[in-house]
Amino acid sequence: MDDCLFCKIIKGEIPSTNVYHDDQVTAFRDIHPAAPTHILIVPNRHIDSVNVMTRDDEPLIGHLFLVAKQLASREAIAEGGYRLIVNTGPQAGQTVFHIHLHLLGGAPMKHPMG
Ligand code: 5GP
Ligand code: ZN
Repeated sequence: MDDCLFCKIIKGEIPSTNVYHDDQVTAFRDIHPAAPTHILIVPNRHIDSVNVMTRDDEPLIGHLFLVAKQLASREAIAEGGYRLIVNTGPQAGQTVFHIHLHLLGGAPMKHPMG
């Protein structure tokens, strides 16, 4: 996807603070952090949103969660707790249409959401 912001970040065409990279996934700090730790975990392969996920994407999405767990531990927020969010579609506040998992933590969060 030539005009996708996160594809450009993954390719290194737009600078970002990367915290993790492997053959399937890249993770970088959100430019407007909503918590002391706010990391976006993104598949290297472009998928618009959960709405267009297929069975083939299942292992990849599982891998996003395992990377989130690893990063939560590395950021020292695993014990205190953290939130994983996947905004899907405009009403949920999705602004970048390349599927991503928000990892948020480091301070108490309000509940419920919205
Ligand atoms: P969404 O609202 O689609 O769930 O999340 C998109 C996230 O991407 C937002 O939290 C926003 O702050 C973040 N973001 C937007 N542009 C950039 C950018 O250029 N670099 C980084 N690191 N994050 C971005
Ligand atoms: Zn993309």
